[in-house]
Amino acid sequence: MNEQETRNNPGVPAGGHGLSGRIALVTGASQGIGRACAIELAKSGATVALAARSVAKLEAVAGEITAAGGHARIYALDVSSEESIKACAKAVLADLGKVEILVNNAGITKDGLTLRMKLADFDEVLRTNLTGAFLLTQAVISSMMKGRWGRVVNITSVVGETGAAGQANYAASKAGLIGLTKSLAREFASRGITVNAVAPGFIQTAMTEELPEAHKTAILAQIPLARYGSDADIAAAVAFLASDAAGYITGHTLDVNGGMYMG
Ligand code: NAP
Repeated sequence: MNEQETRNNPGVPAGGHGLSGRIALVTGASQGIGRACAIELAKSGATVALAARSVAKLEAVAGEITAAGGHARIYALDVSSEESIKACAKAVLADLGKVEILVNNAGITKDGLTLRMKLADFDEVLRTNLTGAFLLTQAVISSMMKGRWGRVVNITSVVGETGAAGQANYAASKAGLIGLTKSLAREFASRGITVNAVAPGFIQTAMTEELPEAHKTAILAQIPLARYGSDADIAAAVAFLASDAAGYITGHTLDVNGGMYMG
């Protein structure tokens, strides 16, 4: 288990979403959207378990949270491995006592046209983006049930709603997350647990950085707000859905896409 307790600073001002005392677990917290979500939840007062494969990057994020007076611990996690998911959930529960907010954010792309897509690339994207979210939720949901309060936020994608040529695997995984979200919302509502999804549009992160310039320009032309999104745009939506203010919202997919798709 790779983990590191960060410095405690009781002088931290509570953030805008009133999550003081809450315990959150964010996957893919080593960079991009996951990192931004972790920082936002910590700003709102939550203690955040940061999970991903790159422990060195997690340490840097934990350092940022600590420097701002927040609380974080890091956990090595590979969401494509059931064994790793179980070990991570066990370690977080042992260290922090419970998980009240779970952000299933870790995700990958392995793009390719369907006629050429290898089964291994289809399977890997489904296993990472969809099965991982299912298994980790399964591993921590009893903890939320015990407290009769919980928040699961799944990071899907606009592509899960519209489809995308060259992304059959990724779009299927993200559409699957929306179905998973609605099913879990129905199963756990009576326990005080809400389950929602956030569907980012085009967000400037390492994932989109590698796309060809012409492709990016074509996407920008389809965004009514005429800008790419930032990781902070997504983090704000996640922190809201994690808050008490969002307590009557469940099974919902919140589009954060500058208007590029209006469901
Ligand atoms: P990113 O910069 O590539 O970050 C992906 C994160 O997922 C990293 O922290 C990575 O950490 C983690 N990850 C990948 N595979 C993992 C595994 N097997 N186990 C554990 N962690 C894993 O991408 P991003 O743009 O921030 O994307 C975050 C989420 O938003 C993804 O689910 C993505 O599909 C979704 N999204 C992004 C956009 C966009 O425009 N950027 C749009 C819609 C949806 P390690 O490498 O350290 O494990």
